[in-house]
Amino acid sequence: MEWTQEAQAELEKVPKFVRNMAKSAVEKLAKEKGVSTVTPELVGETRDKYFNLLNKDKEGKKTTKVAIVRCNTVSEVCPGVGCLRAFNNRKLHFEEYGPDAELIGFFTCGGCSGRRVSRLVEKLKENYDLDVVHLSSCMLMDGDYPKCPFKNHIKQAIEMKNVKVVEGTHH
Ligand code: SF4
Repeated sequence: MEWTQEAQAELEKVPKFVRNMAKSAVEKLAKEKGVSTVTPELVGETRDKYFNLLNKDKEGKKTTKVAIVRCNTVSEVCPGVGCLRAFNNRKLHFEEYGPDAELIGFFTCGGCSGRRVSRLVEKLKENYDLDVVHLSSCMLMDGDYPKCPFKNHIKQAIEMKNVKVVEGTHH
């Protein structure tokens, strides 16, 4: 895939640690559109495509701020690698995020019935401009532990803070 100098310059503005991911996203869109040369417009289009899915502001100034809440009980036996890997690699329930989305919180619910969630979401919203919370896959599936019987209650508590909820992380 060819890149114009101007498109390369746009890519250089992306932080180094996510630049390869950004490049892949642009080239994927180029292929979908059947073009063989990447232009700055295509770089911008890729950015808008990802950001619009998550209501990113039109100026392109605000990155999407993401948090994950997980089951307090399961956290006793799980270090959270699956959730974090899925986010870092933009897989499964994180697929739609652009390369500069940030994970700003990773916390447990605080125990049944999710007593910590409302307080922490409020803090993240007020101080860090949180956009979306993912409920970890461990809360949603019957496995070694049963799925969370308080899921709807937790979801509602998050939505009441005007924060979007996505069900799932890495399953
Ligand atoms: S409220 Fe749900 S997520 Fe939290 S500890 Fe209980 S079962 Fe796990």
